[in-house]
Amino acid sequence: MKEIPKILLGSLSTVDGFDEDAFIASHTTKPITSIRLHPLKNNAHITSDDIVPWCVNGRYLKERPIFTVDPSFHAGAYYVQEASSMFLHHMLSQLLPDKNNLRVLDLCAAPGGKSTLIASLLGRDSLLISNEVIRSRASILEENMTRWGYMNTWVTCNDPKDFTKLNGYFDVIVVDAPCSGSGLFRKDENAIDEWSASNVDLCVERQKRILANVWPALKQDGILIYSTCSYSKAEDEDMLNWMNEQFLLEGLSVNYDKSWGIVETTASKESLKGYRFFPDKVKGEGFYISAVRKVQSEGSIKQKAPKSQHDKSMHEQSSHLLNIKDYSCIPLNDTFVGINPNHEFDLNVLNKTLYLRKVGIALGSYMKKSWVPTHDVALSVDCANSLGRIVVNKEQALKYLKREDFGVLPSDKGWYLVEYESNMLGWVKCLGNRVNNYLPKHWRIRMNIDEVDWA
Ligand code: SAM
Repeated sequence: MKEIPKILLGSLSTVDGFDEDAFIASHTTKPITSIRLHPLKNNAHITSDDIVPWCVNGRYLKERPIFTVDPSFHAGAYYVQEASSMFLHHMLSQLLPDKNNLRVLDLCAAPGGKSTLIASLLGRDSLLISNEVIRSRASILEENMTRWGYMNTWVTCNDPKDFTKLNGYFDVIVVDAPCSGSGLFRKDENAIDEWSASNVDLCVERQKRILANVWPALKQDGILIYSTCSYSKAEDEDMLNWMNEQFLLEGLSVNYDKSWGIVETTASKESLKGYRFFPDKVKGEGFYISAVRKVQSEGSIKQKAPKSQHDKSMHEQSSHLLNIKDYSCIPLNDTFVGINPNHEFDLNVLNKTLYLRKVGIALGSYMKKSWVPTHDVALSVDCANSLGRIVVNKEQALKYLKREDFGVLPSDKGWYLVEYESNMLGWVKCLGNRVNNYLPKHWRIRMNIDEVDWA
């Protein structure tokens, strides 16, 4: 293990809970592997009962498997996520007694760890906007949110300043800020080379800009969650102090079991609490998280309910695809999307303000009197049980995911879902003498799977 920068160690000496020797020693141990299970997909093959204490769906794994060769990973049955950051589950569970009818923004969302966690907690009537400013990272976010399969999670690709005009729109905003990354040293040694005191300063300025841009979009009494994977006080407690100087807010705290090893810290104003995760004290990597409530009054977007865009006839044509019938079928770009009828208002507002990359579940299009479904439908938690399926074993599943011939030819022509261990992987279309693979090309496994253990 490379040496941890002395400047960083020196700057942490006044941080609550910092124990230099134990901290350095913890960096000579193996990083922790953890996953978070999808609550609505089949996870029977995950046998670990080592539960992350602050997240009911979190599981520690003894070894790090090659996730790429597990078809269940591609089906969105779980998400590989660092355990400390799953504390967001604990915080939201306590701070949001009612998870319905909320508008939640995850501002810095790629690759989707926090967004998939939030999606699993929210009620169907709530709406999650997962945003990522960097385009290439927004594609990965979109892929991961598609895999997670919820109609009420949409993906945008915007700069934080684009949210400024959405006055008082969101009940909850999560800012998992880009940071200097010291909390990831154990997982990624290269982060040590990239760390510098001047980069911490740059990150601080960026974090302030992001927070100032997005603050107006939070409702009065709304909650802002701020987190980093940096140990630096400047990016953590000092950022809370800065927010407190700039905005009218009150600190929020959560109860937790002290045996978990999490350290509660206080910024200069007594009520501003934060939660620090040190790898020598918790089973996880470095992380900081805090929550504040906005107490200043904020305007709100005033707009009449828009004329419904719901296409009744296309709803009828597509209704065999989903288990639910209560959705609006909306024409958008070259496809039709299924959204919760309550979110038509949001579509109207957000479409004027943001670059929407993914809205609801893309249902597909109607061509030559038949429905051409999308990959979204296959991975949706609402995918209809009545659709035709081909059940495959692991070898066939991986061949399908490589877009190779997987050796199954149904006798009837038509569309089939490819099912592996009760989860869907995607579509094929049977033409009688051959099967066309409809897995999106960019989702294809590129790795050589010849060496895979088929057990
Ligand atoms: N929340 C994510 C998760 O749990 O998977 C991790 C987010 S990562 C810590 C921070 C994200 O902020 C990155 O995806 C990065 O591309 C994005 N980012 C970088 N610069 C930004 C900026 N100026 N404004 C907003 N987001 C930015």
